[in-house]
Amino acid sequence: MNNIKNIAILGAAESGVGTAVLAKKMNYEVFVSDFGNIQEKYKKILLESEIVFEENKHSANRILAVDLVMKSPGIPDKAPIVQQILEKGISVISEIEFASKYTDAMLLGITGSNGKTTTTMLLYHILKKAGLNVAEAGNIGSSFAGQVALGNKDFYVLELSSFQLDGIIGFRPHIAILTNITPDHLDRYDYQFEKYIQSKFKVTKNQKNTDYFIYDADDKVILDYLKKHPIKAIKIPFSLKKEFDIGAFINENKIHIKTDNTHFTMNIADLALQGNHNVKNTMAASLAATLLKVRKETIRESMEDFEGAPHRLEKVMTIGGVSFINDSKATNINATYYALDSMKNPTVWIVGGEDKGNDYMELMPLVREKVKAIVCLGIDNAKIINTYQNVMPIIVETKGAEEAVKVAYKLAEKGDTVLLSPACASFDLFKNYEDRGNQFKEAILKL
Ligand code: ADP
Repeated sequence: MNNIKNIAILGAAESGVGTAVLAKKMNYEVFVSDFGNIQEKYKKILLESEIVFEENKHSANRILAVDLVMKSPGIPDKAPIVQQILEKGISVISEIEFASKYTDAMLLGITGSNGKTTTTMLLYHILKKAGLNVAEAGNIGSSFAGQVALGNKDFYVLELSSFQLDGIIGFRPHIAILTNITPDHLDRYDYQFEKYIQSKFKVTKNQKNTDYFIYDADDKVILDYLKKHPIKAIKIPFSLKKEFDIGAFINENKIHIKTDNTHFTMNIADLALQGNHNVKNTMAASLAATLLKVRKETIRESMEDFEGAPHRLEKVMTIGGVSFINDSKATNINATYYALDSMKNPTVWIVGGEDKGNDYMELMPLVREKVKAIVCLGIDNAKIINTYQNVMPIIVETKGAEEAVKVAYKLAEKGDTVLLSPACASFDLFKNYEDRGNQFKEAILKL
């Protein structure tokens, strides 16, 4: 790859523009192409960096003349231009692959179906508190490539989507974390779960026997895959159910972190992030930090003073004794499972949106135990209604955040919780999950 000096970049948002800036700095001839409109802030960066670009089209002639293509994660392989590029035998890589060539920093890669952002933020928070020269990047915040272009961090904590991992060749994280694997994004994997699993495991592909792989040992999908496909990295498990000589586990309401030369505990009750899923995220981040020799006091303190990410089981406020929780980022069944699981009070559940192939029966035991009324917030709510109509006395359909919040508040009594945890994507009624969460919060303020 070293003598390739001609790159086309598909997609001109965070990863595309970051890659363009880095490629330019590395003396590539750069051409950026976006099939849609390019946002002003990104156009400005391209212009300032004197990078050639086009929008609202892909000029095949120009693109097919390059030696290397970086495809932004949002563009599927099925896109006609990508098919043409592949047919011509041009190498297509992701931003993570490209950027990793140009840094000597230690890379810590976090992937999984749920918990990536939370675990990335937790690990970054610990390392920062430990005084290390660290940045967080990838799917979170500003792009990895853009940060590499700026230079000189010793550690990058990278949130990695399966789409980023699909485009790697030599990318090698020293520590990889796999939080869990449940069906998601199957539309991009020919509706084959196996392909999605393989994509997640690419995080281990280039790891050596001096690297580490931290994983959820309660996750059957992960265990089955590991049985059939041995990996080189040192495996470090975490679990809510089992104990290990090396790994993270629970005993008497304490998390135990055990590695070759360390063993310490943290009280679950003292953690800033509550809920079983967050115990797992805490275990994963703490194990990684321990492997990097961060002191146990620093890890403990970090886990106690961490401020959670918005839209992830975010406590909004309490009005008239009814507390409101925004879990708009729960875009699949598994995320909502953990949200309902962590509810302590009778819950009015706001659910629905664009369904990516949900099986709502998986939530049935929790719905029976925790939910007193369902407020649907989506265009097509038929599956939700069909699944729960026999067990739920109240199911109301709504078509906007304000209406959903008003209805939910009316149905709730003092001491209840109103939980927005949609288990669905947001694109039928909202721009994205942030928009949905923000509209939810604004509607609460208007009550
Ligand atoms: P991701 O970046 O993988 O989408 P987030 O940390 O943004 O993960 O969380 C997404 C959703 O999943 C939120 O609703 C959150 O409460 C839930 N969640 C977080 N961690 C886990 C986990 N380990 N297992 C299951 N659900 C989780």
